[in-house]
Amino acid sequence: MNGSNIFQKFYDLICKDTGDRNESAKLIVVVRMLTLTMIAYSLISGVLFLLISHTGGMIFCQLCIIAFLAIFIMSYRQHTFASYCILNAAILVWLVANVYMFGWGIGVQTYIFVLIVFCFFARYRHETAKCLYVLALLALRMHLYFHCQNYSPDLSVTAEINTAFQTLNSVAIFWSLSLLCYYFSTDTQALEGKLIEYNEQLKRQASIDPLTGLNNRRSTMEYLEDLLKNAQNQISICLCDIDFFKKVNDTYGHNVGDVVLKKIAETFRVGLPAECFVSRWGGEEFLLIFPQSNGDEANIALESLRRRIKSIVFDGGSAEFSISLTFGLVEYDFHSDITTLLREADDKLYLGKESGRDRIVF
Ligand code: GH3
Ligand code: MG
Ligand code: MG
Repeated sequence: MNGSNIFQKFYDLICKDTGDRNESAKLIVVVRMLTLTMIAYSLISGVLFLLISHTGGMIFCQLCIIAFLAIFIMSYRQHTFASYCILNAAILVWLVANVYMFGWGIGVQTYIFVLIVFCFFARYRHETAKCLYVLALLALRMHLYFHCQNYSPDLSVTAEINTAFQTLNSVAIFWSLSLLCYYFSTDTQALEGKLIEYNEQLKRQASIDPLTGLNNRRSTMEYLEDLLKNAQNQISICLCDIDFFKKVNDTYGHNVGDVVLKKIAETFRVGLPAECFVSRWGGEEFLLIFPQSNGDEANIALESLRRRIKSIVFDGGSAEFSISLTFGLVEYDFHSDITTLLREADDKLYLGKESGRDRIVF
């Protein structure tokens, strides 16, 4: 088994879930990583005490190793919240014992900040309890400070050991804080990314007609309101409707009718100028907006489109057929409101239907 394999197995072991589907997998990983950090810390400090034959220190480190090892093993058998609370309590006891035994100088009390970060990043909604816990941590730190002011440490250590512990504590605290921030910030970033993506998906769904992929009535109204508000160019608007579409449905079936609608939408997309805004206004009615064309220019584009659509041959199963569209075109006069503009386009479309269909009325 090579090195990376062992590392992978070890990592898988740390990431192993609690078995409870409602529990945060991320939190239990952090609990285990912090527990392992405490074991590593106790091992290193045990070696340091061994080097100077400090019996009290060695016994304390052994006890810590046993306690944190037990917490690590228990994390596979109990709820994450229980593991999280037990680890917090164990670190607090370890911290207080350290300060009482070796004094303020070795810097263990700074580990309190790790507990604050740990407490707020853990996704439990006990906000009041969290605030009370932080206040308790502050009180504890002040208590430890005044205790060290008034009493000497129970076990004295040399200046060299003091420096070694300062270094060890700094590394452990930086490591633990980085670990917490790394794990929980990637979680938040990933979540934020997912939310943005989901929001965009929802927005797309809310503005697109699912059958044809064209803009729906809602997004078209938004576009039109914006367009008319800041109108500087000539704008033309066309309402068009498939001729005798009911007959297509009745003769060839609703599915063929749907195919026709999709094909018409595709022809709009390829056959109209790129800046033209195309929407499915309802049923077999479409609204085409030319944001940079006067009526004559739009008329030319529509005539080409009308011919193109007429030339499409559809397969109706029993027979082939083709269809036509009637168009009602208006040019924006820079004064009218949307309702008036749409009514004018609708009137022209009606006129086109009345006068024989398959034509543009401008
Ligand atoms: P006209 O030339 O006067 O417009 O006649 P028409 O038959 O096209 O008009 P009518 O309003 O009588 O019929 C429109 C038909 O469009 C009726 C409806 O079933 C059909 N339709 C509306 N939406 C859909 C759809 O999404 N799919 C299909 N297949 N048919 C649709
Ligand atoms: Mg129709
Ligand atoms: Mg209609």
